[in-house]
Amino acid sequence: RASVGPKYLSGLNPEQREAVETLDGPVLVLAGAGTGKTRVLTTRIAHILSQGRARPAEILSVTFTNKAAREMKHRLGQMLGHAVEGMPWLGTFHSIGGRILRFHAELAQLKSNFTVLDVDDQVRLLKQLLQAESIDDKRWPARMLAGLIDGWKNRGLMPSQVPSGEAAMFANGKGGKLYASYQERLKILNAADFGDLLLENIRIFREHPDILRQYQQRFKFILVDEYQDTNVAQYLWLRLLSQAPAKPAAQAVIPGRLEEPNPESGDESTDRDSGFDAAHRPGMTERAAIAAAPAGPTKNICCVGDDDQSIYGWRGAEVDNILRFEHDFPGAKVIRLERNYRSTGHILAAASHLIAHNEGRLGKTLRTEDHDGEKVTVTGSWDSEEEARGIGEEIEQLQRQGEKLNEIAILVRASYQMREFEDRFVTLGLPYRVIGGPRFYERAEIRDALAYLRVINSPADDLAFERIVNTPKRGLGDATVQMLHDHARKRRIPLFEAARAVVETDELKPKARGSLRDLITQFDRWRAQREVTAHTDLAQIVLDESGYTEMWQKDRSADAAGRLENLKELVRSMEEFENLQGFLEHISLVMDREGGAEDDAVSLMTLHSAKGLEFDNVFLPGWEEGLFPSQRTLDEQGRAGLEEERRLGHVGLTRARRRAKIYFATNRRIHGTWSTTIPSRFLDELPAANVEITESKGGSAWGGTGGYGASRFDDMEAFGSSYSTPGWQRAQANRNRGGGRGGGGRGGFEEEASTFSSASSSPDFGSFS
Ligand code: ATP
Ligand code: MG
Repeated sequence: RASVGPKYLSGLNPEQREAVETLDGPVLVLAGAGTGKTRVLTTRIAHILSQGRARPAEILSVTFTNKAAREMKHRLGQMLGHAVEGMPWLGTFHSIGGRILRFHAELAQLKSNFTVLDVDDQVRLLKQLLQAESIDDKRWPARMLAGLIDGWKNRGLMPSQVPSGEAAMFANGKGGKLYASYQERLKILNAADFGDLLLENIRIFREHPDILRQYQQRFKFILVDEYQDTNVAQYLWLRLLSQAPAKPAAQAVIPGRLEEPNPESGDESTDRDSGFDAAHRPGMTERAAIAAAPAGPTKNICCVGDDDQSIYGWRGAEVDNILRFEHDFPGAKVIRLERNYRSTGHILAAASHLIAHNEGRLGKTLRTEDHDGEKVTVTGSWDSEEEARGIGEEIEQLQRQGEKLNEIAILVRASYQMREFEDRFVTLGLPYRVIGGPRFYERAEIRDALAYLRVINSPADDLAFERIVNTPKRGLGDATVQMLHDHARKRRIPLFEAARAVVETDELKPKARGSLRDLITQFDRWRAQREVTAHTDLAQIVLDESGYTEMWQKDRSADAAGRLENLKELVRSMEEFENLQGFLEHISLVMDREGGAEDDAVSLMTLHSAKGLEFDNVFLPGWEEGLFPSQRTLDEQGRAGLEEERRLGHVGLTRARRRAKIYFATNRRIHGTWSTTIPSRFLDELPAANVEITESKGGSAWGGTGGYGASRFDDMEAFGSSYSTPGWQRAQANRNRGGGRGGGGRGGFEEEASTFSSASSSPDFGSFS
């Protein structure tokens, strides 16, 4: 092999190059933040394509967000010098799983136009089921059940596979049964939830080896970014797809790796079951699920990850997946990268020092050849408002120095922290975008409009139908809806069909009946129009003819105008899509909406959504006990949660190229109540040599102005005086006395799940126990 290869290889260091050029057999790149793992993956695709080893459609490449997928495609174009068309299998687990499921929908008792439910829909549906079973929703909240079901799906468990002990956890043993009837309901509604997108793939692959073989043959190369955050279902899915096709397709073995399928390899699952796993995990069920996966020789799969950046344990991710890679993919080559190309010396030292406090880690060397740069700053403020003001001023100052806003990010622990910054930025006229989290598409008016479009697209979409049947008000109140439900349940038909039947009877009062008939007629007309009208025009027609636009025009509340603006924006946003189906699919899968890509704007997001990203300047507010680490982690006692929080801190710091700025406030308002807070223990864990303590630029405050008498907070003065001394050790002492945020901060505390969009998991799910 020539030492000077194609141009795209020339910038790589030898280890990176090895990871790119080792195309055959399993490869694991296990390396720290900013070492070029994602770059290796992208270059690897370029290499595969330019070597003619596979066509674009034969490469399965899994990224953590849709945004990352777009980014990868863009980079690929740059490397190859031409746009890359047709990489249909470059995307997130969910988007790819959803795509596969649409091809085989009938095998999952669905139609190919099935709807993907978000958490709200999911919860609404579960509420109905609970009602039907006369289970008290107050005692056994639908959200809790949604969380359990989500958890089971993350672990690859079908209703019949849920261990009875766990099924018993809900409503005195009814959990498993409810899961089963929920699945049944989904089929009737022609809907899938996020978990299904992969779970149904797995089931189809297992029940139809011919279909699995088809995909195994198609995907000549598999690449996975952020492997440390895969859950069991994702792992099973990858494992199925990554095996060389079984016998009937043996001729398709890839040149250069001509080994025969090993008849004994079937033992591998039992092997791992008895030995390796037993030492690692107490949970039986995960193992059972994994053991059920057939094992065989694996083909060209390349996973990259970093155990120190595993931050989705709360959502079922298994960092063990990365630790077990060599075991799962026999013959794997493990490559380590040690040079960080992203951050300056001080930042990298601070991040490495922090993460060194974790016990459960593989341990990695990270070095940079960059200069030390600026120290990481730590700034205390009186309260979160001052914190936002201070950060706003620093950003304006950076802007005056010529920094691009696009290179500035604020990474918060909990999404409620964002609002303060949003308010501040609006006041300052500073452009910003929110990445991940509750966004545009989740606003009520947008969801209403989408519900209309969903019913047009899929008449069986009961949840959408129910959402808008009486919005705007048409005299079709709860009683009518209840009646439709009874009808639908009895005859096992969708609500829309039930409505059609009911208007032919005299069960409804004449007024409601007329109104329902009109609605049905309208939908029929819109559906017919769909064939001949552009989808954007159709959307406008639907909003106008349904009376929905008028409803907001007549509304006198302050936000009505904004809502009308949003609706306009919605119709505008549809232009980017070919048709309604494509648009709706995008909505259900979109995970990270950015503003106009050209706009120069500050990025605001949670630490969770920041994974894989990098910015010159990173602001890290809210490093306080009870917020970061989160109260839930503190309540839970065990090390595991705290270590995950620390990894989150590590992820935050390692996003920064040139400046990392940490903040803590001494008072914070959570759910309307003020409480005194204590600086995060993670601050104590930063190396003094790489950190500088600075004054808040947000104003006076430390001594206690701004209307909060210092006497209200006994500890405040202690903080005030310790503030200018070497650090926050005094605060540590206070913490140990049991200070902190009394009791609060639990409900509504958000772990951000933006990467899986609104849907895949509601953060609160885990908090019932
Ligand atoms: P993370 O763990 O945070 O996802 P990563 O390991 O995926 O990080 P990349 O994002 O791929 O790291 O790379 C970090 C930065 O370093 C990027 O800006 C990338 O372009 C740059 N980089 C990586 N390798 C090299 C190289 N050989 N020469 C120059 N720059 C590089
Ligand atoms: Mg990366």
